[in-house]
Amino acid sequence: MAGEPQADCLFCKIVAGSVPATVVRETETTVAFRDINPQAPTHVLVIPKAHYPDAASLAARAPQLAADVLREAGEVATEDKVAGSGYRIVFNTGAGAGQTVFHAHAHVLGGRGFEWPPG
Ligand code: AMP
Ligand code: ZN
Repeated sequence: MAGEPQADCLFCKIVAGSVPATVVRETETTVAFRDINPQAPTHVLVIPKAHYPDAASLAARAPQLAADVLREAGEVATEDKVAGSGYRIVFNTGAGAGQTVFHAHAHVLGGRGFEWPPG
């Protein structure tokens, strides 16, 4: 069933509280927590509490929830004071693009400069 918790999913376990995380924001539908291997001074992951494997399936099946994730990404940037200097929201999609956890998540990266095109 779309959105149901998956027993073998790390981020579903963070939502359930059975794996610890440094949570910075939580809403009824989302959780934001610091990445365990930060790639920038601000590196926060924003996830929907419901399980969807990637951003595109989340947007297709639960568009309001996708909007919640994006709004929260902006709130995280504001709270971490990187909104003014600029920040990046990244959704790695597919193993070939670097996705390692198949529960949709937005990386919010800020606090340093970024190259374009990305590596
Ligand atoms: P991705 O490679 O786009 O799927 O992103 C997965 C991210 O999850 C990586 O940046 C990891 O560093 C991060 N990560 C993995 N395990 C944890 C954890 N237990 N707590 C916080 N972040 C994690
Ligand atoms: Zn999950």
